[in-house]
Amino acid sequence: MALISEDELDEIRARNPIFDIASGYTKLRRSGGKLLGPCPMCGGKVSSGRFEVFEKDNSWACYAYCNTGGDVISLVQQVEGCDFRAAIEKLGGRTAIDAARAKELFEERERKRLAREKTSADYREAERKRLFRTWRSALPIHATTASFYLEARGLALPDHCPGLRYLPSMAYWHGEQLDEHGRKSPRQIHKGPAMCGAFIRPDGKFGGLHLTWLATHESNELHPLLTFSKAEILDPDSGEVLNSKKMRGSKTGAYIAIVMHDAPRRLVIGEGIETVLSVWTAMHQAGRPLDDMAFWAAGDLGNLAGRANKTINHPTLKRPNGQPQKVPDRFPDLDDPGLSIPESVDELILLGDGDSEPVLTEYAMERAARRYAREGRVIRIAFAPAGLDFNDLLRAA
Ligand SMILES: [Zn+2]
Repeated sequence: MALISEDELDEIRARNPIFDIASGYTKLRRSGGKLLGPCPMCGGKVSSGRFEVFEKDNSWACYAYCNTGGDVISLVQQVEGCDFRAAIEKLGGRTAIDAARAKELFEERERKRLAREKTSADYREAERKRLFRTWRSALPIHATTASFYLEARGLALPDHCPGLRYLPSMAYWHGEQLDEHGRKSPRQIHKGPAMCGAFIRPDGKFGGLHLTWLATHESNELHPLLTFSKAEILDPDSGEVLNSKKMRGSKTGAYIAIVMHDAPRRLVIGEGIETVLSVWTAMHQAGRPLDDMAFWAAGDLGNLAGRANKTINHPTLKRPNGQPQKVPDRFPDLDDPGLSIPESVDELILLGDGDSEPVLTEYAMERAARRYAREGRVIRIAFAPAGLDFNDLLRAA
């Protein structure tokens, strides 16, 4: 049998609605947008998991013991224990498809693809709105656990810091939990104070949140002296220490405004909030003029530097299989605009943390410098010494 085209497969699927075929194997009942029943392969009942059929996209899944799923052809393969070719024969075999039918099938496939994309775009927009509500409920950052935490690290806050706020009680979600009906839902494993930063997208709209969970310790019961740190959050299953920072929503091309300026002449951009604040603190304490400056945190190195045109071999690091590790190259992919640097900026200062992988950081900084280069603009790259970030440097000073 020659290769079967995508059109022919679609025609076979259209001719054999999943509901009809699955109903021939097991008894299904309707529940919401799907059909449930005992699994025709493993016999799993609703109580032990679920065999589900989705008419909307002609697919099935077993969450009982099979833990697999697919289309109508794979269902026949699995139930009958036959191969792909035999399954197609059982479904009536392939038929010649004329151009008109092929066009119809192609259009149907496109319509489904667009519907799927719209669903995920809708989901992202709903998530963005949820995060924006959280942001609006947050408190000004000054004189909170978040500002005390920063102070304890030797960092000062500008009087006006539009991009940072404080959440007294923010939930930390990790992994999933199963309820008695076998339904999965996100699991909350921690709740506590958090510093939050707002990502501002290139179109000026809110994009997402940068969250850092914090903890307060009372060092001595008789002389209550409070100390502040990042929260230690453990995975309840593995005991593994989880990252106390999370970024949610969309940060692509977006930045956190540590110091805002309508038309800055000088702009400092670093990866982390604390890195950027450490440079602001040092300049502020040295009495340097800051009137023409803006300070941004990009969240991570990839967002600071934008996409590379390709990945290249790391000069020294190897993967476990002995192959060289790949790193994004020094040259930008100019289809990705990266951050929107205001036209008014004639001096751009990029901060490279010394605690990130050195080659990765160096390439990212060079990539950013090339991407944001303009006639008459000076770009400076400042690296914290190896193993130190700017914040460590400031504390040592
Ligand atoms: Zn099953």
